[in-house]
Amino acid sequence: MIIMIVAGVEIEVIKKNIKNMHLYVMPPYGNVRITAPVKANDETISLFAITKIAWIKKQIEKYENQPRQSEREYISGESHYVWGRRYRLEVRYTKTANNVEIKANKLFLTVRENSTQAQRENVMNEWYRAELKAKLSPLIEKWQKIIGVTTDSVGVKNMLTRWGTCNVKDKRIWINLQLAKKPINCLEYVVVHELVHLLEKDHTSIFIEYMDRFLPYWRVTKDELNSFIMDRYLEE
Ligand SMILES: [Zn+2]
Repeated sequence: MIIMIVAGVEIEVIKKNIKNMHLYVMPPYGNVRITAPVKANDETISLFAITKIAWIKKQIEKYENQPRQSEREYISGESHYVWGRRYRLEVRYTKTANNVEIKANKLFLTVRENSTQAQRENVMNEWYRAELKAKLSPLIEKWQKIIGVTTDSVGVKNMLTRWGTCNVKDKRIWINLQLAKKPINCLEYVVVHELVHLLEKDHTSIFIEYMDRFLPYWRVTKDELNSFIMDRYLEE
């Protein structure tokens, strides 16, 4: 791999046994990669990059502007996402019960003044869990009927690498808690994907056919979901 700088943009060049050059601007950070034929020289590659530079910069900008969940401290002024919408966090103090509620474009987190970051995160996550479960149940009901399958259990948990999982043998589905931060169509896509696994265990062409039949625009939602957040990708 070679690193090339073209018009201020760092480009990773990989030479392969291929005929044409290909350009990629990759999620989540907008890293740029060109794959080129083994015989292509630096000049040819940089010329190729130059002709595409406006497009490359536009793509990078798109990734940079994406809402991203950075490390949260749970202090007033932070941005937090609920169902794809951004809210400004307002922390209020109480000596009694914790609470989370949305009012207009603000998310109010009520906790004890001396609560730790982990405790605040826990209060928020329990609230996200309740939000997610309330939306999840009707979606599971709806799609079980349409797809013609039944699950034995559907659970919600925080996962670092997958939006959902399905254990076909036990008919058990897990949904990632973080989907409560994404637009609702993302949750629906994951629900359909995992339920379709009960018809087809692997990501075969049959699986794809089912997805096309049940959710014709699934690819758009999948791309939307995958472009969202840095370290959380759907299983391919
Ligand atoms: Zn899958």
